[in-house]
Amino acid sequence: MTPHRFAALTSAIMLFAAAPAAAQAGKDPDARRLEREILKQLIEINTSDSAGHTAEAANAMADRLRAAGLPATDVQVLGYSPRYQSLVARYRGQAGGKKPILLMAHLDVVDARKEDWSTDPYQFVEKDGWYYGRGTSDVKDGAAMLVANFIRYKKEGFVPDRDLIIVLTADEETTGGSIRWLTAEHKDLIDAEYALNTDGGGGDYRDGKPIRFNVQAAEKVYQSLTLEVRNKGGHSSRPIPDNAIYHLARGLARLADYQFPVRLNEVTRAFFERGAAAETPALAADMRLVAKTGNPAAARRLSAASPYYNSVLHTTCVATRLFAGHADNALPQLARATVNCRIEPDQPVDSVEATLRRVVADTAIHFSRVAEAHPSPPSPLGRDVMAPVEALVAKYWPGTPVVPEMSTGATDGLYTRNVGIPTYGVSAVFDDINDSRAHGRDERVGVKEYHQAAEYWYELVRRLAGVRPAS
Ligand SMILES: [Zn+2]
Repeated sequence: MTPHRFAALTSAIMLFAAAPAAAQAGKDPDARRLEREILKQLIEINTSDSAGHTAEAANAMADRLRAAGLPATDVQVLGYSPRYQSLVARYRGQAGGKKPILLMAHLDVVDARKEDWSTDPYQFVEKDGWYYGRGTSDVKDGAAMLVANFIRYKKEGFVPDRDLIIVLTADEETTGGSIRWLTAEHKDLIDAEYALNTDGGGGDYRDGKPIRFNVQAAEKVYQSLTLEVRNKGGHSSRPIPDNAIYHLARGLARLADYQFPVRLNEVTRAFFERGAAAETPALAADMRLVAKTGNPAAARRLSAASPYYNSVLHTTCVATRLFAGHADNALPQLARATVNCRIEPDQPVDSVEATLRRVVADTAIHFSRVAEAHPSPPSPLGRDVMAPVEALVAKYWPGTPVVPEMSTGATDGLYTRNVGIPTYGVSAVFDDINDSRAHGRDERVGVKEYHQAAEYWYELVRRLAGVRPAS
């Protein structure tokens, strides 16, 4: 059922009617109740950039953690500005233990307009097996389950073999300023052997069945460039061949025809190899071939089949903005384009820019970079992390392949990898591959899927921090 049909009901009635469903979704009703309560609280604090209440959300989570018994000094709300406040909370493990594990989510959400939605985006609504509200899937579900699990560990007296650290940032959806500030100014607070991010990876359903559990272990690097042609101009009644718009247009046309060569890394090779299981036989054969040999013909067919596969296989640079001229009756004195590149993580930005200059092949076109890129090396797929991830996927979603992936966009993980903290996105929340609503209208998370993911994280972190699986 689509959410449109229940828009007229009040959320209060729905909450009352639906409360038992949440309790049924998992084994421990107390844990389920807490996970639901914290998610509801976070959804109903509007942390969109225009509202700017991340401090309120961070403090609400801090209060819960202190109430559960974390020392006040281990729970900090901080940020580079009062408007962007993050939470950093440390759960102490055995003294002299290993380097900590960092657990990541963000508190902010993309703006949502009430008139676009079937329900109030900043009201937590449960209906027909779904939790609705802005942030239910990106990524207040992740923030809520991390906090709920810390409280659960504390109640159970769990002592990990090292410190566990939660970081909930305040502006992942806009500038990433919080994580950059934390990694630059307070690295000691969040430094870790590796990080697990709730804001990457995730499970895919097709026709209601799990087909893939994704582990985000790499991200492409973001770099925009400005291409600019200047000209002395003149009267448009006397055109000359040296025209700023034509220079730029021809250069961009050459760029449009250019494809960067196939470039794979450990993560994308594993992505094609293991992801093949969920594809049609023809595509699966091409994926295996690409993974093994980088075969260009197979890569071409995959690129034609999916813009995502194309982006995984290649560095891409595409024109996104254009500006030129100043009057209808004057020759242009300026023509300018923005070209946005998404660069394979092991490729230097310099080499991409050099390639672009060669392809555009016109010295009248001047290049400059819009801000500096943050390199983000792929995180190694070591068995110490991957083995427990896989063992628990086999327990919760038997037979589902674990597929490492490289994001073609960017999350906070870009910056933690940049400062030497390998980062793995293991959201564990399953959703239909054809109905993702993050950033969109009527965002939701499945009730069963949310609580299952929380349980998965509860157990995963325990195993990684020293608890042996029951045999
Ligand atoms: Zn997110």
